[in-house]
Amino acid sequence: MSGHELRLALADERETRALGGKLATTLDDGLVVFLSGDLGAGKTCLVRGVLQALGFKGAVKSPTYTLVEDYSLAGRIIYHFDLYRLHYPEELDLIGVRDYFDGQACCFVEWPEKGEGWLPMADLEVHITHKGQAREARLTSCTDKGSRIVDSLQEPRSTL
Ligand code: ADP
Ligand code: MG
Repeated sequence: MSGHELRLALADERETRALGGKLATTLDDGLVVFLSGDLGAGKTCLVRGVLQALGFKGAVKSPTYTLVEDYSLAGRIIYHFDLYRLHYPEELDLIGVRDYFDGQACCFVEWPEKGEGWLPMADLEVHITHKGQAREARLTSCTDKGSRIVDSLQEPRSTL
């Protein structure tokens, strides 16, 4: 059943990356994760944590200008989108967005609201908000696949 929710306090950048590291252990074929929150909330930082946990050693660039960066890591293709600079959701059609969501690759999408109507449904939505200097992440599942992730992060052993 979808609609599982989890709130996690993220005291500092390290904890945001650690949450990404946890997510990296739960990836599934075709997983789609939407990341929302203000500029500077920590969306890219979270994806950086995912990629580093999968063994990526380079600098994780924010795909603000390129719209999407692709990675091939640990036997998986990962697409990291940042749609902040999209003027119209239809622009996604021009970059052939459907080819990215192929049921195999894992897609992380910052600013999904800018691509409304042109993106598939997310399995998991992560919303990050400022809490003073720290952050809070709210994870909400939209599919069974997403619920399994939320549940696995909820287990008592799953401390960051
Ligand atoms: P976004 O992609 O949401 O615009 P970034 O990930 O690029 O944001 O930047 C987030 C900023 O917030 C970085 O400067 C990072 O060091 C900082 N940051 C990330 N997580 C936390 C946290 N839990 N507490 C405090 N600062 C954080
Ligand atoms: Mg970003």
